[in-house]
Amino acid sequence: MNLQGFGVGSRVAIGNAVRMPAPLPEPKDTGFSGDVAAEQERAKASIATVQSDLATRATAAEGSLKEVLDAQSMMAADPTIAQMVTDAIAGGKTAERAVFEAFASYAETLKALGGYMAERVTDLNDISQRIRADLSGVPVPEVPRRDEPFILVAVDLAPADTSKLDLDKVLAFVTRDGSPKAHTGIIAAEKGLPAVVAVSGADDIVEGQRLVVDAGQGLVIVDPTDDEVAAAEAEQQRQAEIEAAPLEPGALADGIPVALLANVGKPADAQAALEYGAEGVGLFRTEFLFLDRDEAPSKEEQTADYTAMLEPFAGKKVVARVLDAGADKPLTFLNDAEEANPALGMRGIRILREKEHLLRDQLEAMRDAQEATGAELWVMAPMVADAADSEYFTALGREVGLSVVGSMVEVPSAAVVAEQVLETSDFVSIGTNDLTQYALAADRVLGTVAGYQDPWHPAVLRLIGMIGEAGARTGKPVGVCGEAAADPRLAVVLIGLGVTSLSMAPPALAGVRASLKEHTLEGARAIAARVVAASSAAAARAAF
Ligand code: PEP
Ligand code: MG
Repeated sequence: MNLQGFGVGSRVAIGNAVRMPAPLPEPKDTGFSGDVAAEQERAKASIATVQSDLATRATAAEGSLKEVLDAQSMMAADPTIAQMVTDAIAGGKTAERAVFEAFASYAETLKALGGYMAERVTDLNDISQRIRADLSGVPVPEVPRRDEPFILVAVDLAPADTSKLDLDKVLAFVTRDGSPKAHTGIIAAEKGLPAVVAVSGADDIVEGQRLVVDAGQGLVIVDPTDDEVAAAEAEQQRQAEIEAAPLEPGALADGIPVALLANVGKPADAQAALEYGAEGVGLFRTEFLFLDRDEAPSKEEQTADYTAMLEPFAGKKVVARVLDAGADKPLTFLNDAEEANPALGMRGIRILREKEHLLRDQLEAMRDAQEATGAELWVMAPMVADAADSEYFTALGREVGLSVVGSMVEVPSAAVVAEQVLETSDFVSIGTNDLTQYALAADRVLGTVAGYQDPWHPAVLRLIGMIGEAGARTGKPVGVCGEAAADPRLAVVLIGLGVTSLSMAPPALAGVRASLKEHTLEGARAIAARVVAASSAAAARAAF
């Protein structure tokens, strides 16, 4: 039986299924007639236990996981929720029921906000379960432990579960819900753990069943044949060889260089980027440093952060993006307006133009960090819509004293007028995540439309081809820094369409490096011509 979902990473795993225990049932609303104050104390104690447990785990974790656990511990400590629980118990509910209702109502509020906030619902449900398990004295339904390696199958996984995955034992995971760009997917990508999410048939997988998880294809094979297992083993062998290959600079078979760069969010990511052989940074998402802030960071603080980020890259290129606020990355100090469609609202450069003093502070901090470190700093603006936006940003960057100033192309209008955008920029970098979201009108964090969020779609690739042609006409660099660059085959198509550098999560670098080496520029162009002529994403993959 073959089950289709959405893959995270490109690795293959073979193993037996272990099912995640079912979530705790909804506590019955039986009413409570005992000692209200004692019941309120019982609830408070369990909330405090879970909060401190999450905080302890955050201290031991790293990367995105640490951020998520920290955020969870803060949510558990939220006085609004505590008050809701206390009130509900006073109104005649048991502590278990009160906790369930308080977190459920908070989750509804987040869901209504959409985007990044809605993604937090899984985190919140997880906290609710942990508190209720503590109250009832039952184990938290969490990742099972086994002596033998296994493939974890779950309805969904919370980041707190992902934190406990023993990478020596968990070979891969499969979930029924989730979307590849939600937290659990992002953490899996950072760990290099293969995963397939949003697999609608995942509930039918039985404990102990043999599985092949092919993240590159987004495929789960249940009870594979001997031939299917042999093919998966051959693919694992091929990938192991690729990962063991020397960390050379990126180049095509005919020696034409293609810089392979890393996507990073904070100074701690620099190490992984260099270990995986990144030639520099192609996307430094500066807003990731400030997602939890109510007030804008000072220029001094920013200078210190950017200096720490640039230091390991002295003599190398670092493309830093100015704050990309909005939708899935809310920064309340830039935009706290209620917007019905935040992805179409005051995002990126649009809001920075309104708050130019903050943009200017950031650009000055970047300039000072560059001077302090000797990294080759390129700066770019997100969500540029047309040449008016790029002209504005380039002029401001020059005024501040930055030497290389560019534009992201992730809004379809900017792709259509790419030549005008390039004439008013030193370079462009294509954000394929947003370009795909906007070209196909499919919310990038919504699992139900994940099928439309496919950068192999010929409409997206034709837009990229237009940008590549404009790059050739103007003689300026065209990079890609969205997830598409991390797909080894799609990377070849992008080069064939005129892209000149690729930036991705560091674990993806080896696969892309190997893939580029198999094709000449002429070969990549021939493949790209076939792929853009296809009539669907599936047909485009088949035409490679
Ligand atoms: C993109 O949109 O592809 C991109 C690189 O930026 P982000 O994912 O941070 O929006
Ligand atoms: Mg983007």
